Amino acid sequence: MNHSIRDIYTGYNESEIKYLTDCTMCPRNCGINRLANELGFCKCDSSFRISAICAHFGEEPVISGKKGICNIFFPHCNLQCIYCQNYEISQNNSSLPRSMSFDKLINKICSVLDKTENIVGFVSPSHYIPQMLAIIKGIKTKGRNPIFVYNSNAYDKPETIKLLEGIIDVYLPDFKYSDSGISQEYSQANDYFKYANASIKEMYRQKGSTLIVNDKGIAESGLIIRHLVLPGLAEQSCEILKYISDEISPNIHISLMSQYYPTLSVKNHKLLNRTITECEYEMVKKCFDSCGCSKGWIQNMDSYKSYRPDFSDENPFHQ
Ligand code: SF4
Repeated sequence: MNHSIRDIYTGYNESEIKYLTDCTMCPRNCGINRLANELGFCKCDSSFRISAICAHFGEEPVISGKKGICNIFFPHCNLQCIYCQNYEISQNNSSLPRSMSFDKLINKICSVLDKTENIVGFVSPSHYIPQMLAIIKGIKTKGRNPIFVYNSNAYDKPETIKLLEGIIDVYLPDFKYSDSGISQEYSQANDYFKYANASIKEMYRQKGSTLIVNDKGIAESGLIIRHLVLPGLAEQSCEILKYISDEISPNIHISLMSQYYPTLSVKNHKLLNRTITECEYEMVKKCFDSCGCSKGWIQNMDSYKSYRPDFSDENPFHQ
């Protein structure tokens, strides 16, 4: 049985419902009726389908804290990155998990939240905005008031991000590419930069560059931009860092990630078939400094060994 948000809520505002009846919530602009089970690019309907709800310790220190973040992983994605490290759940031709009853879903989140820091992360939420908002309301109905983190690929529309003002506490977007040819080849989105740029600027408008961290060392409000350095693309990484510094702010917290590893699907790819080299990461770190960026995190060169989720396991990160 599908549990659509219509079965659960009457309290949706018109823009949220319209996203499902005429889905234009992300830049793909499919315009299909998800409440009538029509499927667009992301191949997701209006029900609550979740790939994993688990404690996750592998995020930035201000996100994971000591006890981990309660992460909610949505299936499929509005980008289709050929190298995706969560490929088991993100590929739109992969089978979807069964829809969950809303009560069961909220109870499961609360039971994980009992063990983690008081922080909930939505991973790849760009094509699940109405369901995400319903989950936030459901968690609050239980008397909980966690910090909410929006962990997206940034292939979002700025007007969708505007809807989240005052609801999302911490934005954690990727900023993947500046080049449209590469974003098309790697993620089927030649307009990635246009939308990532506009949506991150909207996040910045809401949050500015101040990251508010509480006495437990957990981020309570702000914006952290993630950038995964890809093999052979160190120069593009530098362009993105320069763009952030010049066009948004050099004071934004940036998480510069070296954890890329080639999944099976790119093991024969001419560039993506290897981890990044120390030389590439050093070059990007130097750019980080020379651009005037000073806040954020870098990773160890062996970090690629520790991000190998297995989503067939109830605890995909084996923690
Ligand atoms: S969320 Fe899915 S259906 Fe809606 S516009 Fe994006 S890809 Fe298309």
